[in-house]
Amino acid sequence: MSDSSSTGEDLSSQGSGINPFKVALTQLEETAKIIGLESGLHEFLAHPKRVLTVGLPVKMDDGQIKVFTGFRSQHNDARGPYKGGIRYHPQVTIDEVKALSMWMTWKCAIADIPYGGGKGGIICDPKTMSEGEVERLTRRYAFAIADIIGPKTDIPAPDVYTGGREMAWIMDTYSTIKGNYLQPEVITGKPIAVGGSLGRNEATGRGLAITVREAAKRLDINLKGVKLVVQGFGNAGQFSAQLVEEQGATLIAASDSRGCILKRDGIPVLELRRHKEKTGSVVNFPGTETITNEELLALDCTILIPAALENQLTGQNGNKVKARIIAEAANGPTTPDADKIFYKNKVLVIPDILANGGGVTVSYFEWLQNLRREYWTEQEVNQRLDSSMTKAFSDVYETHKKHDVHMRTASMILAIKRVVESIKLRGLWP
Ligand code: NAD
Repeated sequence: MSDSSSTGEDLSSQGSGINPFKVALTQLEETAKIIGLESGLHEFLAHPKRVLTVGLPVKMDDGQIKVFTGFRSQHNDARGPYKGGIRYHPQVTIDEVKALSMWMTWKCAIADIPYGGGKGGIICDPKTMSEGEVERLTRRYAFAIADIIGPKTDIPAPDVYTGGREMAWIMDTYSTIKGNYLQPEVITGKPIAVGGSLGRNEATGRGLAITVREAAKRLDINLKGVKLVVQGFGNAGQFSAQLVEEQGATLIAASDSRGCILKRDGIPVLELRRHKEKTGSVVNFPGTETITNEELLALDCTILIPAALENQLTGQNGNKVKARIIAEAANGPTTPDADKIFYKNKVLVIPDILANGGGVTVSYFEWLQNLRREYWTEQEVNQRLDSSMTKAFSDVYETHKKHDVHMRTASMILAIKRVVESIKLRGLWP
């Protein structure tokens, strides 16, 4: 579980050939034009405040030393400490990390939590490494970035191919070298036994389901019996599906990297989760037929949740989508061309920086609990998450109506305005 991902599959943006930092800059530029942002502030936001590259020598199991490269990008801290995950992937690039750190700034501003945006990454393939090698690499990275992270400056979290295990090692390394006392508040996404929060594992899906509920209210859709389709039945996809199902929707199709399945009279989400746990995939769930990814995205349904990869909904397939609500669990599943088509076709897109903000919101709750040495009940976490997501949805929806722009642009307008307000109030030093 992560602020942005905790995956087991290839989710890097690099495969698409699109430079994510360029995409992030284009989004910033488009929004800057709409709100008439002064050029100096635009430039301020276009540059991360600090990007650190570190060389990480690690002794491998065969006795050889191998040097890995790691990054930490700190985009903006006008509203609070940098916050964002650490990604382990063979195709991590500095531009990807920079883009993700900028998106974290916007995501935290929309969720209205007192954080800025950060992101980290190491170019490595943890699938090919032993546990000991991953641990030595993780501790070396924690040591290398220790001077720029901290409970009040930059609080990392899991992302692609990292999880509670790595977070515990980073916490331990940081705590040992910085005063030698336990500092769980330096990182979130930890196992419960070392200061993790209840409710965090399903927080992204829960948050997404809350935004779907709010969208349905605005569009006057009764969720009872409406059809739901999920692309990418992983952590975010499964919990999103389960919690939207709890509101009355019926899952009719789902997919993962091994294939797509369809059963028009409904697939019980819990049973599908069990099937995936047992067999490793959604395919061959009893009573389902196999379909293609293109067919899945074009199914007649009310809610479509892309929860796998970037650039799935494009100018090519956008017109075929029949869903009325697209709720983006994945980061960046919709291209700008597709956004325009959806706006024209009156499909409501709940953009990633709003829809999947539940993960970082519960990370914030974890940090608060750690700072106060408190443990909240799951019910308390979920209630607070509900109020926070409901308010975030409502703020974005009002901006979308007021400026007559699609929800993604509305999210960006809201986020940039909030960040710029903090920058202006704090002023520039010196
Ligand atoms: P995950 O690895 O748990 O799940 C990803 C799923 O996508 C897997 O089931 C995988 O089989 C499937 N998949 C991979 N390639 C596919 C393909 N070509 N077609 C269909 N399915 C495919 O990862 P996750 O943590 O659920 O993350 C998924 C997305 O959600 C990512 O974009 C991530 O950045 C985003 N996200 C996740 C969280 C979180 O808390 N987990 C938070 C914010 C954003």
